[in-house]
This record gives sequence, structure tokens and C-alpha cells, in this order.
Amino acid sequence: MKVTFLTPPTLAGAHEADRVFGCNWGYYPIPNVFLLTAAATLEREGHDVAYVDAPMEGWSRKRLIEFFRLDTSDVYLIYTVYLSRETDLIALHLLRERRGAVPFVFLGTAPTETPSSFLVDSNTFVVRGEPEMTLVEMLGALSQGKPFDSIAGLSYSAADGARHNPPRPLIKDLDALPFPARRLIEKHKMRYYNPKIGVRPFTAMLASRGCSYRCKFCVPCASSFAAETEYKRHFHYKPPVRERSVDNVIAEARMLRAQGYRSISFVDDQFVWGEDRALAIAAGLKELGLEWGCLARADRLTEPVVKAFADSGCRYIDVGVESFQQAILDDIRKDMRVETAYEAIALLKKHGITCKINLLIGASPLETEETIRENMRIVRRLRPDSVMYNIANPFPGTDFHDEAKRGGFLAYEEYKAVGVQKESLVSYPHLSRERIEQLTRRANLAFFLSPSFFLQNLKKIRSFSDLIKACQAYWRKLYD
Ligand code: SF4
Repeated sequence: MKVTFLTPPTLAGAHEADRVFGCNWGYYPIPNVFLLTAAATLEREGHDVAYVDAPMEGWSRKRLIEFFRLDTSDVYLIYTVYLSRETDLIALHLLRERRGAVPFVFLGTAPTETPSSFLVDSNTFVVRGEPEMTLVEMLGALSQGKPFDSIAGLSYSAADGARHNPPRPLIKDLDALPFPARRLIEKHKMRYYNPKIGVRPFTAMLASRGCSYRCKFCVPCASSFAAETEYKRHFHYKPPVRERSVDNVIAEARMLRAQGYRSISFVDDQFVWGEDRALAIAAGLKELGLEWGCLARADRLTEPVVKAFADSGCRYIDVGVESFQQAILDDIRKDMRVETAYEAIALLKKHGITCKINLLIGASPLETEETIRENMRIVRRLRPDSVMYNIANPFPGTDFHDEAKRGGFLAYEEYKAVGVQKESLVSYPHLSRERIEQLTRRANLAFFLSPSFFLQNLKKIRSFSDLIKACQAYWRKLYD
């Protein structure tokens, strides 16, 4: 079958959603390795796969309509996150006007959470949770005219209403999956970019799926969030972490090096699962001479790991500190001591890895103006390379959402798509939504306009155009 994975241009509002992490608007373009892995899996089954990344193409709504009019794909797939829900439903509507009843498949976080709301007609499908094997079976049934009732993980419309088939077991052996089909985005190879590394050609990789921790507010990367939402719905606890083997990870990195890539962002929810594994991956990457970065918990960053990462080309690590207030960390179930964050920041500085810490504002009813100001004071003292203050967003499916709802802290009746640096969906009696937004803006500005931030980061800027891009990304985060 001719299958097209589509990322439409924004069709609702001014912003494009980031579909890799799924929790914010897209400020710099990262390849969607989840979609490209699904695409590679379908190619392996013999399907003729195309990938249209309309934002990268600079397409308008008119250009998308023109594409639908001329295109001959047998089926379209969209990876939908909460922030792209409106846009993606409009894309389906536009497709229906031009191509009639051609099959259309939603996958991703939002369709997994509320599949019925995406089943707008009998030729629309929702692949819930982890998509690869469900897609293989679904397209097999579609091409052979077989029924869908035995395809685990699939939701579809039957004559008597929406059908939600039982869940699909998670893939145990991630090494069995093909590497992401990056050749489908080859023409944009020099345009994908992460300002925290600044070296191109750049791409993303995933070395594990899931996270075993229990932070209440957690919105993991989009692939994990969809798998987790589906798993928790049926089993009421989080799915286990699954790791690719070190050999398999290094084989992909080696292939990327041979294809000319020079930098990689690992988009795992948490990259360091076991010191031995982390050291082995670092040793493999060191031989390849790639520059790379990842996200990791502070309590996983031991000195041997940080040192080995630095030696192997690791340029940045994003650390989810969330707050420097122990009572808040305990309340949001971070399961970490504040001192651990101090130690991790010091270790990263010592070994020359850019440390970006993420702080959450309003994730707990224990948050006050004073706790926010105290966090700002601590940031000034610690001087990490970069900080991003985000407003805690009660995404549906998180415990934070359920608790905020029970406590009467939700500022709106229903979830709405907002950027996490600008708009708050929670409001506490002692800390209003507006005050959370003001203080977040003030905290981010105080950091980004500080002379120490400029001085610390100036040496990492490799070209004038990188400087402009980095400034634009920060500006759009705070003001657009
Ligand atoms: S450690 Fe990070 S990815 Fe894991 S549950 Fe906590 S916030 Fe989520």
C-alpha cells in the first residue's frame, strides 16, 4: 500500500506543536524518530512509505489542500499530541473534502487518551499506545479486506459504534525494530537542529522506552506518553522500562556517522539506566567522534558516568530538577533529595558538560511566591549554564491533572493547548494563574538577561547564525 506519514502545517492558531516531546510548541526542528521507526517498520513489510513534514517544507494550508488533491496515497497517518489535536482534525477534514473516504490513522498521545473523539467516520482509525505492530496488522487487514476485530491496540468505527480492541502487549525486544527511516527526511538533513549542540547534520535517537519513576506531573516524550497512557488504562501502573542493547544503539550511531551525521540528541525520557550500560554506550560513542546530548535524572549522574560522557562527546544534559524545595519535590513524587541536584550540577560543570536544568512552577499546591523567588535565588547562586522555568501543565492522563481537578485548581473546564512558558492551566487560592504566568516570565527573563548567562554561553556559540537561531528560540518561547 502507498502510505503517507503526515505532519501538517499548523491549521489552528499560530504555533506548531513539538511532536517529539509533545508538551510544548516546537521551537527548533527535531526529527520525529518515533514516526520514522513506525515508517521503517512498514517499509520492512513491503509498503511504499512517504513522509511529509509540512512545517519543514514551509507549507501553507493552501499547499496542503493542493497536496491532498493530487496525492494518491492509500492511507494517511498522523502522529497527534495534545497540542496538535485541533490542527490534525482539521487536516482530516481537508483530506475528506479532497480525497473522500481514504483511510486515515491517528496515533500518538491524544488519540490514545480519547480514541472515540478521533473516530469521526468509518474510515478513520486510532492506533493506541505503541504503534508499530498494530500498524503492521492493521494495514495488512486493510489491504486484504479482512476484519479489524482481532487487531490488538486498534480503535475503529463499526456499524454499532466505536470499537476499542484489547490492548497490545508492549514490544519486548526493541532491537528487533528497524532503525528509523531517516532517508525519508534526507532533504532536510542540514536543517534539523538543536541549539544545545549546534553541530549539523543533526538527528535524534532513542535508546530506551519508558521511565520507571513516578513523578506526578510527568509528561514523558510523546512515544512513552502514548504507551504509558494505554498501559495504565488497562493495568493501572506504568509500563516497564525497555532498553535497546548497547550493541544495537552503537550500531545505529555508527550507521549515522557513516551517513555524515555529526551530532545526536537522545530523546529518551531518562538516558542513564544502569552505570555499566551508560559507560558502555559512552565508550562506543567515543570511538565515533559524534557530539551528543540527553536528558537524565540528577541522581543517575554519578562521577564515573559524567566523566565518561564528557570524554565521549556529550555536550549537554537536560536535568529535571523541578524545584529546590524539598517539600515540593516530595509532594510531586520526584523521589530525590535537593542536595542531589546540587551535586549533579557541580559534576556537570566540573566535566564541562552544558547543564540545562528544568524548573517547574505551580506543580504543587505548596508552591508560593516565596518558593518561586527562593528557586530564583538558588539559580543565581548555582549559575547553571541554562535554566528553563516551565509552568506545570496538567496534561490529561497525569496524576497532576487528576489531583488539580479534585482540588478545584484547574483554571478551565477542559484541557486547552497552551505553551508551558506562558500560560497556566492551574490556579491556587494563594497563587493565581496570572501570578504564576507573571513570575514564570520574570524568572526566565532574569536568567536569560543576566550577564553571567551570556558570558557562560558565548564560548559555545559556533557561528553568528547559531547565535541568531538560539536567540530566536528563546524569544519565541517567552513571547510569541
Ligand atoms: S524521572 Fe523524568 S521521565 Fe521519569 S517520571 Fe520523573 S519526570 Fe517523568
